[in-house]
Amino acid sequence: MPPSQARAIARILPAMNTSDGAGVRLRRSLGSGEGTRLDPFLMLDEFSSFNPGDYIAGFPSHPHRGFETVTYILDGHMRHEDHLGNQGDLKSGGVQWMTAGRGIIHSEMPQQEQGRMRGFQLWINLPAKEKMKPAGYRDILPEEIPVHALPAGGQVKVIAGHLQTDDVTLAGPIHGLSTEPLYLDVTLPAKGTFSQRMTPGHNAMAYLFEGNVRLAGSETLLATHSAAILTDGDHVEFVAGDEGARFLLLSGRPLGEPIVQYGPFVMNTVAEIEQAIHDYQTGRLTEA
Ligand code: FE
Repeated sequence: MPPSQARAIARILPAMNTSDGAGVRLRRSLGSGEGTRLDPFLMLDEFSSFNPGDYIAGFPSHPHRGFETVTYILDGHMRHEDHLGNQGDLKSGGVQWMTAGRGIIHSEMPQQEQGRMRGFQLWINLPAKEKMKPAGYRDILPEEIPVHALPAGGQVKVIAGHLQTDDVTLAGPIHGLSTEPLYLDVTLPAKGTFSQRMTPGHNAMAYLFEGNVRLAGSETLLATHSAAILTDGDHVEFVAGDEGARFLLLSGRPLGEPIVQYGPFVMNTVAEIEQAIHDYQTGRLTEA
């Protein structure tokens, strides 16, 4: 790769309207069908509604094995409870980073009865050697998430990995994972710009959910509520349009391992999936 290579749009994955859990309406981009994963990311859901009927039923008790779930609440209030006795209250601006490992059984239930419920859930795969590690989770309070004010307006929240511009390096609360995830929430004013150094070889995407934005050097606007998968490179630069923009910038180290998924279980082989189903049915999913 040349010494400086800007990332560009490789392809667009539109979000599909779907529902999950006990009938939560959401937009699914990554993970919406065949060929829609972006190693190590398995799934990205956006939920956004002012209508409690779209979200209040939540996600009652269900299992996971073999990966991590990251829930980022922009507006609203969600309660998490799991078989380990953990209880977490996710409020606006907060994140829950849950490592299912060998198994977790949990519920994710909206607590508010009116107003907007909005946020994201991202699934990040675990490498084969970590799929059966003990479950764990971390609630990250809004005040634990660093916010960097951009010199020309706008801001970046650093949820995982490092914000790396020409002027500043800022670590988010989550780092040190083997997939080395970068998770930024970027807000730009009209015509605002943002440039981030990227790790070559890591897969990356942007998910625009407000306004309009393009990549520097291109006139193509990113589609709202779609995952824009990026080409490889060592940096990426965004230029907001007339409305400003808000988007997620995600990247991670690809695992390059086979994936066999059955609903909430993501393993490497069919035999491991059969084992997960058996363990769940016999009450041993979460046994150490
Ligand atoms: Fe879950």
